[in-house]
Amino acid sequence: MTTAERPATDRLQQQLRHALDRSPYYRRVAGSRRGRHDTAPVVLADLPLTTAEDVAAAGPLGFAAVEYPRIARYAESRDHAGRPLGAAATTGDLRRTTAAMAEALRAHAGPADLAFVAVPYELSGGAQDTDRALAAVGAGVVGVGALSPVCPPERTAELVAALRPSLLATTPDRALATHARLTAAGHVPRALGQRVHLYLGGPCSPVRAARVAELWGATAAWAYGSTLTPAAGLPCAAGTAHLTAALYHAEVIDPDGTDPVPDGGCGELVLTTLAAEATPLLRYRTGDLVRPARCGCGDPRPALQQHGRVEDRWRPPSGAPRTAVELEQAVLSVPGTGLYCATGWSAGRPTAVLDEATGGTRSEAARALRALTGIAWQVTAADRTAFLTATTRAGRRRLRPADLEAL
Ligand SMILES: [Zn+2]
Repeated sequence: MTTAERPATDRLQQQLRHALDRSPYYRRVAGSRRGRHDTAPVVLADLPLTTAEDVAAAGPLGFAAVEYPRIARYAESRDHAGRPLGAAATTGDLRRTTAAMAEALRAHAGPADLAFVAVPYELSGGAQDTDRALAAVGAGVVGVGALSPVCPPERTAELVAALRPSLLATTPDRALATHARLTAAGHVPRALGQRVHLYLGGPCSPVRAARVAELWGATAAWAYGSTLTPAAGLPCAAGTAHLTAALYHAEVIDPDGTDPVPDGGCGELVLTTLAAEATPLLRYRTGDLVRPARCGCGDPRPALQQHGRVEDRWRPPSGAPRTAVELEQAVLSVPGTGLYCATGWSAGRPTAVLDEATGGTRSEAARALRALTGIAWQVTAADRTAFLTATTRAGRRRLRPADLEAL
């Protein structure tokens, strides 16, 4: 898992050849490798890493390894700098994604369910893939999306109250915002019959995800992926995201370099597609931090504990950076804490902002952060409404203390 040097499988070799022969970007990579023996197996670890910058610079179809008429869908995501990352898919690609998702979702959804898909549909593949997979397991689907003025968050909340979906496919932050809207309108969200929250992104600490789902009386199931890497992690029956090993080969590397991290360490997830026709990716740096782990469910595929974006790490004056998720887990594990914890630097000091925590709870949170990082933290509080407003303003970016101070 942590190195690219495992014996190459036929499937991996086929994918490497397909990419190096057909994708305009990888043909250039192959061109720079000329002189090596053409019939010898390609060694994955010998290939350069592919970055989001590479994908953005190649343009919308710069990676597309199929002829134009075979493209069944074109979608985009954006990297942390806002650059569009294009991804085409063939009918076969879409079928494989839907089948993998449907197989995983069968443990969580079925014909008796009505599911709301509350993540963006515009240009993105994730909502459409989830929609198709839920339909494939027989669930009813309402595609409320997340960005369209046709269905703003107020309308989504009204529809949740009226239609009472049993499954909500969203992010923990959107689930919280919907909960707050319904509560303000006099509803009791726990009484609305939600059974499962399928979290599609918005990585947060396990303690926070459980708390958000519990507010609704639901259980949490995690998926992981992007428009470029759909269905890369899918939930087991216990709700933990496992690597979709049939579709991806994974490496975990030092986010500040290129070396593999030791087994069980947290690092940047690097994915190689195994069955992509339209957009094969070889050693793609996802920019996402994961810690591979064993899951109690017995599934031998590695569980992917999500730790947020590489750029969201907190860097101490010396020593190893900490992920925002690690810091959040330490703080929100303190009894008496609530649903939010923003961490970062403020006025030159490591700072955590909590929602509605008492003085004693803030002191305990400061102790927990010191135990984790070895330095002193200031811990302040803001009310939950301020967090809801700041989260909406921050969009996909992780919340920082400055976002709350600005309010
Ligand atoms: Zn599991």
